[in-house]
Amino acid sequence: MNNKPSADRWVREAIKQQSSYRVPPAGEYIKLDAMENPWPMPAEINQAWRESLANIHLNRYPDPQAADLAPRLRSVMNIPEDAGMMLGNGSDELIQVILMALAGDDVTVLAPTPSFVMYEVLARACDLNYAGVPLQQDFSLDMPAMHEAIATHQPAVIFLASPNNPTGAAFRRSDIEEILQLAPGLVVVDEAYQPFVTADDVGFMPRLAGYPDLIVMRTLSKVGLAGIRLGLIAGHPDWMNELDKLRLPYNINTLTQATASFAIDHWSVFSGQIKAICEERERVFASLSSMPGVQLWPSETNFILFRVSENRAESVHAGLINKGILIKCLHRAGSALDNCLRVTIGRQDENDAFLSALSELL
Ligand code: PMP
Repeated sequence: MNNKPSADRWVREAIKQQSSYRVPPAGEYIKLDAMENPWPMPAEINQAWRESLANIHLNRYPDPQAADLAPRLRSVMNIPEDAGMMLGNGSDELIQVILMALAGDDVTVLAPTPSFVMYEVLARACDLNYAGVPLQQDFSLDMPAMHEAIATHQPAVIFLASPNNPTGAAFRRSDIEEILQLAPGLVVVDEAYQPFVTADDVGFMPRLAGYPDLIVMRTLSKVGLAGIRLGLIAGHPDWMNELDKLRLPYNINTLTQATASFAIDHWSVFSGQIKAICEERERVFASLSSMPGVQLWPSETNFILFRVSENRAESVHAGLINKGILIKCLHRAGSALDNCLRVTIGRQDENDAFLSALSELL
């Protein structure tokens, strides 16, 4: 009998060429690599949260409509009344659902680059073509290049993460509006970091009514609830009705629904943390700016992208790990992220540990 599995014969080529999404074990590190909020459920509401879970029936499937949670999300995210909404097991799942709906021969997904990696990873997994349009040197959208790429590829969907990961800045509103006018298909404005935007800009949620092919994506991951995996999209009901057919039944588990409802009922606690993170971001930014050889970009997120001098990114990254601090190394020689690292804003003591370790290494 042949004991060799036949995966090699049957698994699609596009999948064989990918690698699994690897996350380094957190261990005892000061963890500043994944844009998490540094605080667990605050002590003053922890007991009430546990009590809110006491009467849940885990023997039953979750409410597929999330009837308790949905209106709370609509209210806290300012989703217009006439827009449709769909929930996902993290926004990652929603990106996957959108791409599965659009998959077909010669269909192209377009996004600026560098941007959030899952757009490309999931597009390729669905056998879609992927066109990355390089950002300008200052990481703003290259509008002539976007015009040309849209005309050439006629993309079924364009993903615009704004503010963008890993660069940290929001795209100009007028640029996004221009892309919405030009696009032949869907435009997903991924506002994962909108809570950290301190400028007077409320993002694209209030503009949904003006654009039938706009979808706005949000997540609770960055505001203190990464562990429950909850993202959402809002857009025209026609789009939502189609996409909902691909949503797995019961994709939002009962504990997630109850915890998210509880968190929204105590939203001021989370907004207070977001405010504190934004203040820390300014302090870390100022401190990084004063370090010799460090180049950095303004951030409207809970992380900062910075560049160290020639050929130092990998050794600085390893040096920080040696000192118990985990950040993200984005360096790829010759790319737009040459010698770049990304640090998530943590608690004040964590940020201090990072800053002093970095300044020693430099
Ligand atoms: N969009 C962007 C721009 C992100 O940076 C991330 C997380 N890194 C996500 C979406 C995914 O978030 P979630 O945890 O909701 O899957």
